[in-house]
Amino acid sequence: MFIIQGMKLTDKQRERYSRMLALRDFSDDDMETIMNTTVAMLGAGGLGSPSLRLLTAIGFGRIRIVDRDIVELSNIQRQTVFNTRDIGKPKAEAAAENLELMNPEVQFDPICVSIDDENGIDVLKGVDIILDGLDSFKARRAVNKASLELKIPYVFSGAVEYYANLTTFVPGKTGCLQCVMGDAQDNPENTCAQVGVSPTLLSIAAAVEVNEALKLALGRTPDLMNRLMTIDTSTLSIDFFDIGKAEDCEVCSQPQKKATEKKNELSVTQLCSQSFNISPGKTLNLDLDTLASNLDSMYSVQRRKRFLIVHVDDNIRVTVMPAGNLIVKGIATAEEATKLFQDIIGDDN
Ligand SMILES: [Zn+2]
Repeated sequence: MFIIQGMKLTDKQRERYSRMLALRDFSDDDMETIMNTTVAMLGAGGLGSPSLRLLTAIGFGRIRIVDRDIVELSNIQRQTVFNTRDIGKPKAEAAAENLELMNPEVQFDPICVSIDDENGIDVLKGVDIILDGLDSFKARRAVNKASLELKIPYVFSGAVEYYANLTTFVPGKTGCLQCVMGDAQDNPENTCAQVGVSPTLLSIAAAVEVNEALKLALGRTPDLMNRLMTIDTSTLSIDFFDIGKAEDCEVCSQPQKKATEKKNELSVTQLCSQSFNISPGKTLNLDLDTLASNLDSMYSVQRRKRFLIVHVDDNIRVTVMPAGNLIVKGIATAEEATKLFQDIIGDDN
């Protein structure tokens, strides 16, 4: 947590948070603790959107928003942090922009990457609580490892169709994702795009996730420690199952290995939106103005506040973030994505 010495609530903060402060068992000190807490919301999609709205309204001090994709028309039905005018923007940036309007007391840190074993530690370093709005076990495994290594509690949630699962992993006090899910793989037949996902389910699951985050922030025992909660909104049933640590767990029973050495290579990920996210091996600090004027002779370039949109031709559109991440729409293969990265950012990087 980042501590502001002798911090006291201002009159405005007291008014903004008055219904929170009026709650039984909730003091000024508790509000200050929340305002000094940094959370990471991984994924600004179906689960991330309602969670982000709650985290922001409640007044968590800093929110790191991690998402690799861009906003599409089919997202708006459930991804309530976006407006229709956000279509085409990077989700992390669009979410931060909209949430700032809701609560200017909160600091936002949007990061447009695909979280994996190589960047997990970098992305999560310095946060107090991790909240899950991810859509793949591959990404969750990376988060699980980083959570154990950094000793950060991880509120797990997964939702598809009418069903959600939630539990809270606290390093040293509970098992981990691997203990519960084993080697579960992503089922390509069972994605939100294939079987859909209920917006009301997402709101319930998000509320539970944020409730866990509140308890963790305040040093209280989260209700889903060593318990798995399942929600089924087709029958509106909620169940709880005791879960624990697997004694032979290959992830949390072993001393944590140091994070994988960075390979300094491009990582290319295909996204749900039929786009590709390309991340350089190291964070670049691109000067967007210079890049825009360099690209201007070859492409049609739009300069936005915190990113560029490059129209390569009528079909291919590339969103460029200052850290060197690209989201490319309109291509079919990872090879084409890599080629575009070289054309736009250059070989030196
Ligand atoms: Zn484990």
